Amino acid sequence: MTDSPQGKHLIAGAWTRSAATFRSAPAQGPARVFSSGDAELVDRAAQAAEAAFWTYGSAPRRTRADFLDAIAAEIEARAEAITEIGRQETGLPPARLEGERGRTIGQLRLFADHIRQGDYLDRRHDPALPDRQPLPRPDLRLMQRPIGPVAVFGASNFPLAFSTAGGDTASALAAGCPVVVKGHPAHPGTGEIVAQAIDAAIRATGMPAGTFSFIHGDSHEVGAALVRHPLIRAVGFTGSLRGGRALYDLCAARPEPIPFFGELGSINPVFVLPHAAAARGRQIAQGWTASLTMGAGQFCTNPGLLVLPAAAADAMLDAASAALADAAEQVMLTEGIAAAYCEGRDRIAGMAQAVLESDSRGRNALPSLYRTTADAFLASRAMGEEVFGPLGLAVTVQDDDEMLDLARALEGQLTATLQMDQGDMALAGRLMPVLERKAGRVLANGWPTGVEVADAMVHGGPYPASTNFGATSVGTMAIRRFLRPVCYQDLPDALLPEDLRG
Ligand code: NAP
Repeated sequence: MTDSPQGKHLIAGAWTRSAATFRSAPAQGPARVFSSGDAELVDRAAQAAEAAFWTYGSAPRRTRADFLDAIAAEIEARAEAITEIGRQETGLPPARLEGERGRTIGQLRLFADHIRQGDYLDRRHDPALPDRQPLPRPDLRLMQRPIGPVAVFGASNFPLAFSTAGGDTASALAAGCPVVVKGHPAHPGTGEIVAQAIDAAIRATGMPAGTFSFIHGDSHEVGAALVRHPLIRAVGFTGSLRGGRALYDLCAARPEPIPFFGELGSINPVFVLPHAAAARGRQIAQGWTASLTMGAGQFCTNPGLLVLPAAAADAMLDAASAALADAAEQVMLTEGIAAAYCEGRDRIAGMAQAVLESDSRGRNALPSLYRTTADAFLASRAMGEEVFGPLGLAVTVQDDDEMLDLARALEGQLTATLQMDQGDMALAGRLMPVLERKAGRVLANGWPTGVEVADAMVHGGPYPASTNFGATSVGTMAIRRFLRPVCYQDLPDALLPEDLRG
């Protein structure tokens, strides 16, 4: 069993080096040399994925389910090696990496069960009505079919659950789509070991070699070549608004545009309603800071914005500031992310009033807290832009109407949270129609970090939370992104997909 990175790409079953290389920049431990991909390797991987699609895409569901279970088992077999290199590359603590590995394996098994059950096929049948007047009705059957090869970009902030074998890959493979992954250069060794696990599962279950390829890269060339490749049918992405938007525009500019499922950015507003603020403001403030600093704030669901009644603000922000002042420095995922955090903090500092200022150094981050008024927030679009890291912005409102105005002015969000008591029900009822339009997930009296992988989960939302607000990148509904409905009219049974016969 291979469980150490060799610095190679996996192209259709062959481990390959390329002339160009890059050095990893781990948080701790030795830097390693990795091959860096190019357009020619992308072409080979995409051609192999297309060739594999003709068998993999129409393989029985149980075959694909067994393959997903085999990937989970191969990842489990490499557990220690994955945690060790993940710790070195990302600086994330082993417990977080172990938890994320469990989630990754759980996701693969969830999709295996999901496709075994078969409800996702959404099979429909309108039987023929030969005697209908004035015209007969034909026999119509509908079923979801896989779309073809899918490109997946590994995310910097989830080296396992949103990367090489993460939710995008698991849902695409479950749908019947071969996958080409562009590994994230922040954790290339982790990505390569997971690719070794998928390669082993392909061999063990006899899947076509082109079902999965993995390309290292630290230049935009690989990503751009991948989304432009004519054989790629859709893209799954988690990352920055700027990078995601650039790739989305490339997808739209292709001679044949393809869907780009990007999860880009969100400030995840938390609305503290007046009765809850009066009854348990300090407790809410402390809960907020715990969610805000989890994982150094490097979660897409980080609750960066707190909207609260002005009357409760001083007491709540004192409590939040006291809780944050005790927070220890946390190492960030990359030097680039640490630098972007400091830039974002300085940007907010130029627009809002400091409650707790921090002096983060190098790759380490300390939390910061700022406050402003609804008037000032509504006047400045820049205050609503995501700062990726442990930064909180509290916006005070004078009354219920101002809270509603602020909610209406927000951009699309992954989540919106209500902190409310029974006495807040009327205001919550007024906010709900607005929040439903703004966010993919609306929560009451919880915190948005910690996303369940489940049937009813939505991890998506209107732009810029995601580029496609009908989709989710977490939970079983994520499979829909890589399917399209086909209607079969009057086809003999023998020509129908196996799942539609009879
Ligand atoms: P990123 O810069 O968006 O990069 C993600 C992936 O996209 C990388 O593989 C990158 O390839 C590729 N890429 C980016 N721009 C491209 C372009 N113009 N053409 C082709 N490929 C392109 O995200 P990141 O590196 O993970 O982190 C940077 C910032 O993103 C963070 O500071 C943070 O603000 C934000 N972020 C947000 C979330 C979220 O969930 N909201 C998650 C992670 C990061 P290369 O190898 O060429 O760089």
